[in-house]
This record gives sequence, structure tokens and C-alpha cells, in this order.
Amino acid sequence: MLFRSKSKRGLKPHQVKCAIRKNDQVVVIAGKDRGKVGKVLQVFPRRQRAVVEGVNIVKRHMRPTPYSEGGIIEKPAPIHISNLMVMCPKCMKGVRIGRKVLEDGTKVRVCKKCGEIIEAKE
Ligand SMILES: [Zn+2]
Repeated sequence: MLFRSKSKRGLKPHQVKCAIRKNDQVVVIAGKDRGKVGKVLQVFPRRQRAVVEGVNIVKRHMRPTPYSEGGIIEKPAPIHISNLMVMCPKCMKGVRIGRKVLEDGTKVRVCKKCGEIIEAKE
């Protein structure tokens, strides 16, 4: 889990398939935050990791700077995408994602359970 995937090494970011996109609602399926639901704030496709709001919070001890007061700052750290599942708005739970090409040629992600199209907001 902590190791980077060997097969993905050396690939350019756009070559790495990643079902999770920024602004997705995701469910954490493993680790200490299991069961939590949050919004994806950032994705690192090459590292197969994503930052999710309120998940994997780490405490950073910051020195006061002219820009911040310092002290202990809590912020979300990247979590491996294998610990995450995209939330289907219809099933209301984490689901596996399939891909579909619409008639006009646009590729969309669909819920494998109900077939609902899952769009990344924005
Ligand atoms: Zn669904």
C-alpha cells in the first residue's frame, strides 16, 4: 500500500487511469477513516493518491510566520486511491465505476450497479 505501483512507474500523468476525479464525492473503504465520505480536493494520478476533505487528517506543527500564527495545523494528507470508492448519487454508497461512450462521443463514467452517469462537478 505504501509502495508506488511498479507498473505505473514512468508513465505520464495522462496515461494513468484514475477513476477518481477532483470534486468527486468518495467513500473511504479502508484505513482509520473507513466509512467517511468527503469531497476530493486534489488528485495525484502518478502517485495514485488523492486528498479528500476531512479524511486522513494529519497534524503539522507550524512555526509562526508573517502569514500564519503557527501552532498545530490539521490538514488532510493524500490517501491511496485503492482505499477510496466513488460515491454514486443514486445508490448513495461507494460503487465500482465503468466507462461508457455516449452517442455524441463523449466518454462518461457510470455506476456499475445502476448505470447512473457520474459526472465530476465543474
Ligand atoms: Zn449507482
